[in-house]
Amino acid sequence: MTRFVDVRNMVRWTAAQGPERIVAGMVGYLEDDFRRWPVFDKSPRVASHTPFGVMELMPTSDYETYGFKYVNGHPSNPARGFQTVTAFGVLADVHNGYPTFLAEMTLLTALRTAATSAMAAKYLAPRGARTMAMIGSGSQAEFQALAMRAVLGIDTLRIWDTDPLAMDKAVRNLSPLGFEITVASSASDAVSGAEVITTCTADKALATVLRDADVQPGVHLNAIGGDCPGKTELEAAILDRADVFVEFTPQTRIEGEIQHQPADFPVTELWEVVAGARPGRTAADQITLFDSVGFAIEDFSALRYLRDSVDGTDFFDDLDLVATPEDPKDLFGLVMSPLPVR
Ligand code: NAD
Repeated sequence: MTRFVDVRNMVRWTAAQGPERIVAGMVGYLEDDFRRWPVFDKSPRVASHTPFGVMELMPTSDYETYGFKYVNGHPSNPARGFQTVTAFGVLADVHNGYPTFLAEMTLLTALRTAATSAMAAKYLAPRGARTMAMIGSGSQAEFQALAMRAVLGIDTLRIWDTDPLAMDKAVRNLSPLGFEITVASSASDAVSGAEVITTCTADKALATVLRDADVQPGVHLNAIGGDCPGKTELEAAILDRADVFVEFTPQTRIEGEIQHQPADFPVTELWEVVAGARPGRTAADQITLFDSVGFAIEDFSALRYLRDSVDGTDFFDDLDLVATPEDPKDLFGLVMSPLPVR
């Protein structure tokens, strides 16, 4: 049987654990996997682009467990009543190839993206950061805020979104959770006084949601919305002043903020920092930029964390996903003696 966490159980599990506890636990799994990064089978994700958006497969393996995520990105979806990002993912046993674990990953992607942002900020953000500007307050926003609180202690938010209803929603969700929130009047206003700046907007465009003139020395930029060819958020001049940290360079050169830069534009892979091979933040006036696009190993870590966390609980179902005839050569025998209709 394949263990299956559906949306209902994901919601129950998240509510029972609490998003901040999940993020803290997930950061531990992410750090473990980032430290053993060279072990993994890695490739840029496989993307199918259409005028509506993109659909992607994100595979990886540590040669004991194989994993992949299906994910879409459709910036015009909310206006049509659909979400921008949805996902599901699988873990499989390398020794026989059987899928062992299947999970909804729309919620899990928000948690893993937030956990990855928080892990990066742990190594790159200025010490003692308390205030985060959040540009874009859609689906990812609350998860990002909670993760930054769980890992950094961020308790003050300055929010900006071009959609006032999205800002109302974020305030409604986050105020009761104890954040001090300022609704800004522009991106420029939002970043004023913030030590960490998160951009998580969705627009299939070369947008400039953050201008170079608004970026002060010493800040950490957590740019998660520019994650596709032709979809970026930052004025290019910011990249000339920042030290840029990426997940998997070949994928980020296709999808990240650095997609417009020359092929030899210098970057540091985040795993090198987590493993202690390269420095993270080295100076108080340094601008650090996590050019996040989302990489398969993060989904692998998130699925591993979920799988281990739900073990021994009732937050999963057993799914009869793999046809297993008694004689492995007699697959046809299964249809010769059909099971009773359920
Ligand atoms: P969403 O559609 O729910 O929210 C995006 C918000 O951005 C909307 O509220 C929209 O009004 C706002 N926005 C658009 N243009 C803006 C601008 N110029 N200034 C301010 N606000 C603006 O999307 P989401 O699920 O929150 O995802 C946000 C982005 O993050 C998407 O582009 C998605 O592809 C990306 N994403 C990245 C990762 C990663 O690992 N890097 C993971 C998940 C999602």
